[in-house]
Amino acid sequence: MGKIIGIDLGTTNSCVAVLEGTSAAGEPEVKVVPNTEGARTTPSCVAVSSGGERLVGQVAKRQAATNPANTVYAVKRLMGRKYGEEEVKRHASSVAYSITQHDNGDAWVELGGRPVSPPEVSSLVLATMKEIAETYLGEAVTEAIVTVPAYFDDAQRQSTKDAGRIAGLDVKRIINEPTAAALAYGLDKRNSETIAVYDLGGGTFDISILEINGGVFNVRATGGDTHLGGEDFDARLIDLMCREFETAHGVDLRTDRMALQRLREAAEKAKHELSSSLETEINIPFIATGKTGPLHLERTMRRNELELMTRDLVERTLDACRRVLVDAKIAPPQVNQVVLVGGMTRMPAVQRAVKELFGRDPSKEVNPDEVVAVGAAIQGAALSGQIDEVLLLDVTPLSIGVETGGGVFTRLIPRNTTVPTEKSEIFTTSVDSQNFVPIHVLQGEREMAVDNRSLANFELTGIPPAPRGIPKIQVTFRIDANGILSVEAKDLGTSRTQAVSVTPTSGLSEVEVERLIAEGDRFRETDELRRTLAELRNQAETLLYTTEQAVEGYADLLDEKRITQVREDIENLRNLLDTGNLDALRQAYARLEAATFEIAEAMYGAG
Ligand code: AMP
Repeated sequence: MGKIIGIDLGTTNSCVAVLEGTSAAGEPEVKVVPNTEGARTTPSCVAVSSGGERLVGQVAKRQAATNPANTVYAVKRLMGRKYGEEEVKRHASSVAYSITQHDNGDAWVELGGRPVSPPEVSSLVLATMKEIAETYLGEAVTEAIVTVPAYFDDAQRQSTKDAGRIAGLDVKRIINEPTAAALAYGLDKRNSETIAVYDLGGGTFDISILEINGGVFNVRATGGDTHLGGEDFDARLIDLMCREFETAHGVDLRTDRMALQRLREAAEKAKHELSSSLETEINIPFIATGKTGPLHLERTMRRNELELMTRDLVERTLDACRRVLVDAKIAPPQVNQVVLVGGMTRMPAVQRAVKELFGRDPSKEVNPDEVVAVGAAIQGAALSGQIDEVLLLDVTPLSIGVETGGGVFTRLIPRNTTVPTEKSEIFTTSVDSQNFVPIHVLQGEREMAVDNRSLANFELTGIPPAPRGIPKIQVTFRIDANGILSVEAKDLGTSRTQAVSVTPTSGLSEVEVERLIAEGDRFRETDELRRTLAELRNQAETLLYTTEQAVEGYADLLDEKRITQVREDIENLRNLLDTGNLDALRQAYARLEAATFEIAEAMYGAG
């Protein structure tokens, strides 16, 4: 069996890790794999250039300010989401790319002139992380553990799994980010400990309380907010700068995508700097043009200003922590250790708030940007048998239930139930000879069905004619270790498996996933061709330059016929540079290269 890599698919950045081996003491040694630029995390950013080339990671992020409409970031916030949701609207108002509505109501993005689903965008990031691991390992990788926020619901998990498939990865397990972090933190802990994992990333917040004890990781409770993260802190800074600029100059920067993108970058940079300095300068020259000429944005930002304007966001994380402590039935002093995960936990105000709530300094043992990927790689190594089995007992973050009479939400599996789990329920018909029974499955904590998230409509079909209330169909709702729901039904009268037709409320259909897998392969081939062409073009330009120099300088050493021939070869290669004809380019390159060798021989022969 090949290696199962661990991927932390983050809102802002992603990270990949692999097991290298085990230490003399039997502890797993995990390597966070740097990308081709040497960075240990890669921006979860995808762009399409004006030439139609797909860019992923740092190269995509770097050109965001000049290509804002076709640079997509933070797409994790749209995974499994409907266009009309409040959070999606809020997200749309702070990003420079367009969000569109797909036929089934899902939120998609506009990229390279066409609507693209969030799983497809994420698949490009996953494929890049896969490639980074493959380059390092020197072998193909087909299996991965991918992490998701613990608070992701069924639709968001399904979308993540689809993204993995489109990227050519068999996602062996979806694990929760805080659980992965706990695994990386606690694998070597011999004593029983209760830990809290506080995970504030670019787009999501998670809090989990776990008991760890000799290789068993038991999640007691989990909670969070899939729309609360670093992006919201940045948005506050952007808002402030826009408002101030409009007051001072009467120009609304929000209407200019390029200005908005530059503001975003400046806001995030200022936020980072304020984690280590008390004051920072924001300086964006030529951000707009006013009546009297170019306008610049210059401002000093103080740490306490940032803290004041984001206090409610930090407070929201603490509210979630308090709820989870209640769910786990423990008081803060019973928590032995607090582990901080996610880049946002570098903000001093966040660290202070967590310390105050739990009454202790958080652990300094883990790197908040890498610990999740490391935990995922450990789980991968355990599944492939490279290290001893670890037992992750995770929980479902939200209750699962069905819609019953009067639009009421009836819970079948309450939140914080350990997964995998299943629950059976008997359904029957409500009118004589009814041959089908509809079941509407939802997830959430509200009392009325409409207020919760609809997962799917199941229809028990082909029920034999009978008076109402007589057929007895047992429906089993199952949540697997990935937190994903499946449903199975049995007619108790005939003991036969009952047909169930499923209409998921959101996400990609099987046909769409298959199409995207095929398209992905095709794109990978064109991308590969483009890369090879670009490399060859670079080499050819160097060869053209050196050969021309040589011909100029040493013409007297070669006979005239030869020189004419070399000049023709030069011309021929130059004409082919922009044609994209790889074979012809290769041949012309080889011919000119041979000629340069001849010139060299003549030179040295003469010397
Ligand atoms: P993650 O999703 O864990 O990669 O977290 C990324 C988030 O952390 C982004 O919103 C970053 O702007 C933020 N972040 C990273 N480093 C810092 C820092 N030094 N201070 C404040 N926020 C940071």
